[in-house]
Amino acid sequence: MLFGDSPAPGLVGIARLAAESEVLEAKRAVQYFEIGCKSLLNRTRPGMPFEWSLNPYRGCEFGCRYCYARYTHEFMELHRSSEFEEHIYAKSNVGAILRRELRRIDGSRGIAVGTATDPYQPAERRFRRTRAALEVLAEYSGNAVSITTKSDLVTRDIDVLAALAKHNAVSVNVTITTLDVSLARLLEPRAPRPELRLKAVRKLSESGIPVGVFPNPIMPLITDQEQRLDRLARAARDHGASYFGGGLLFLMPCSRRVFFPFLEKHFPHLLRRYTERYEASPYLRGAYRDVIRDRIAAIRDRYGLASSPPHRELTHCPEIQPCLFETEYRSRAS
Ligand code: SF4
Repeated sequence: MLFGDSPAPGLVGIARLAAESEVLEAKRAVQYFEIGCKSLLNRTRPGMPFEWSLNPYRGCEFGCRYCYARYTHEFMELHRSSEFEEHIYAKSNVGAILRRELRRIDGSRGIAVGTATDPYQPAERRFRRTRAALEVLAEYSGNAVSITTKSDLVTRDIDVLAALAKHNAVSVNVTITTLDVSLARLLEPRAPRPELRLKAVRKLSESGIPVGVFPNPIMPLITDQEQRLDRLARAARDHGASYFGGGLLFLMPCSRRVFFPFLEKHFPHLLRRYTERYEASPYLRGAYRDVIRDRIAAIRDRYGLASSPPHRELTHCPEIQPCLFETEYRSRAS
């Protein structure tokens, strides 16, 4: 049974149903803003697996306890950690800005959508900035586009992804830290449940979109157990994922301010060990990192999963007239 390893295994009947219920609406004061931007594509540091990142939103409602992107709100002088979850900024003029930038860059070394905030967070349902960006990307050829999300909302855009995949390499990375519903609710309070994410993996795979599952971030003594990771990889394979990754938790000071109180409340026995490990550096190094790397590699081998999306030779197609291509898939989608 995939979802049966709840930390409160004694729950039955209505109590279990309640624990597993999807949040319809939480009474929080989320405010949405429109924010201007000069550019959408940011060049990444050398050594990253992609050269460009693209984030249509600032802030993220999913509110993961370990989120490393909270510091991005500090650039806007928003320092309370709750503001990252409650003040959501949708970037304006996405289509025109991206079109201008795509004419100037080589996207064949990777454009990663959703590196700092989830591109399919609840705001996307209404404001559709991610979809607008994908529509523009689909006008071009020869780019390698990857999307990372925790949300099954990504399946809404399968039509655009299919159009994009015609002349570009496309892949979707679905993040699933755990199959344990109760644990996921604690760690990622407002993100879709793990089985919804798995269903999204299946839909994407059945639509021919290369899709992988990432159990990121792997959290020591919380989600790093061989058995948990094994079940997750097997479920990923069974739902059509072709690759499986794995990266360890890193804790910048802005993340520690949220994660350590979270540990104190829900995993008090782990607080001292985490504090000792992460006080010196935001990153875990040494033997533990090697153990997890080898564990993930062995699990991948067991289920025939790759470590990354299938390679696709990219060619720029000068005959693609952006506007014509746009018209083609729009008419098909309507
Ligand atoms: S989904 Fe990603 S960006 Fe959003 S809160 Fe979680 S870790 Fe942060």
